[in-house]
Amino acid sequence: MRRRLPHPSGQQAPVDRVSRRSEGPAPAPYAAALDEAVATPVPGAPAAAVAALAMAAFAAVAALAAVAGMAGCRAPSGAGGAAAARRLAGAARGWNVVVLTIDTLRADRLGIYGYARRPTSPGLDAQLGAGVVFDNAFAQRAATWPSLASLLSGLYPSGHGVEENGNGFPDDLPTLPKLLKKAGYGTGAFLSNMCDANHQGWDAFGCSGGKDGRTVREALAWAAAPGDARRPFLLWVHLFGAHPPYYNGGDLADRLDPGYEGSLGPKKWRLDAVMTQHQRLDAADLRHLDALYDAAVIGSDRLAGELLGGLRRAGRLDHTLVVVAADHGEELYAHHGYLYHACSVYQTTLRVPLGLAAPGLLPAGARVPQAVELIDVLPTVLELLGVPPPPRLDGSSLVRYLERPGGGGAGKPAFSEYGASRIHTVVQHSWKLVDNPDRLEPACIPGPPGQPPLRFPIARTELYDLAHDPGETANLAAGNAVEVALLARLIDQRFAHLPHRAQPQPIPEKLRKELRDLGYVAP
Ligand SMILES: [Zn+2]
Repeated sequence: MRRRLPHPSGQQAPVDRVSRRSEGPAPAPYAAALDEAVATPVPGAPAAAVAALAMAAFAAVAALAAVAGMAGCRAPSGAGGAAAARRLAGAARGWNVVVLTIDTLRADRLGIYGYARRPTSPGLDAQLGAGVVFDNAFAQRAATWPSLASLLSGLYPSGHGVEENGNGFPDDLPTLPKLLKKAGYGTGAFLSNMCDANHQGWDAFGCSGGKDGRTVREALAWAAAPGDARRPFLLWVHLFGAHPPYYNGGDLADRLDPGYEGSLGPKKWRLDAVMTQHQRLDAADLRHLDALYDAAVIGSDRLAGELLGGLRRAGRLDHTLVVVAADHGEELYAHHGYLYHACSVYQTTLRVPLGLAAPGLLPAGARVPQAVELIDVLPTVLELLGVPPPPRLDGSSLVRYLERPGGGGAGKPAFSEYGASRIHTVVQHSWKLVDNPDRLEPACIPGPPGQPPLRFPIARTELYDLAHDPGETANLAAGNAVEVALLARLIDQRFAHLPHRAQPQPIPEKLRKELRDLGYVAP
């Protein structure tokens, strides 16, 4: 039986041990990347084709594993697999951990994920390529704080209680900083947004209010002297990144797309107007929207390079596990004329970059095609460090993939939640189901003065074949009742018995204002 929850009223990749001091490739200089980005001609739109290839590879692995009777396995089978499963557990005991999350960063807009329209991510490509890259990683909610809270806790939003931006962690919730602090780590978090959330477990905390340069400088200053030098450290840096209005791109979009004379620009009111005024974007507008977003990705790549380059020069990436991820992606007009993310249930916003690098410990250049979830990051890090996991985890360790990239069986389905509603998505092999049993039309962004908020239409049931339709343009639910029933059952099985910790929470006015300024409909 599906859980019944209230909803907002009225709306809504074999491991060879080599030198542990290997440093991996340094990011390409930003200036060179910028020049290359500007000079690169704009071909067609290859991203969809690349996504289709990724899903096709994923489907092929799933099919092979199914033939071998491994579908649904959570761990390698057989004695060999069990032996392999022990190899990396605890292998990073005492290592430092750096978690870099970048807001609103679509996987399919990075070169290492196949983006070829222009070189947007030389630095991140080098960092991700120095370790294991997960080709099909999914966020549990296309909203910043619920998604980041899942990464930090290993729980679905309903499990950690942060179902909306503005909700707080339960005080007793075990999270990555609390668990590592208990294991003797020094902990520091430096964020650019979500400044007023109830962050817990950090010895040092800084939040810049959208100023990524300051966030990077403060993080580097702390990492240079994180307290007792004999203690390992956990450093979390969250950049505003490619979040709208894409100001990390500066005026680069004008160079990427010269001659554009339309209304789009890196201003929130201009982007909002597309939605509130139901503007229809033509090919030139869409080209410029891509340029605006890509410019912000290029700017984010530079900032990530400053952080990682600074840490490397300071010797702080030795014996350091580096996790790179995003909280969610961005719609960019792909569905229902929506530009942003928090209302979306599609791959544009739920598929995120994810990579783990630990030179000398994890293989470089390895790819993992199976679906994984951001809730898997915490159990993976804990297993690598040999730190005991908390009693409840919704996610599961990905160490089996780190040990045998290309192996590991068919993997598992990936799920997302949607606020306090009963809307869920599930991706299994190349099928994707969006289940909206209450037929909600969530509010997305504030409407024009005196007008109700704009709503995001989600059908009762949406089924997509991601291998052939990565853009999720054709709802196949009507003709595929069996697939719909099987995927709906997966959702029921996953969530029916999970404890639900979210409670209605008043949102402080200061936080409400921060959310409004970011373009969210504050609950
Ligand atoms: Zn975000």
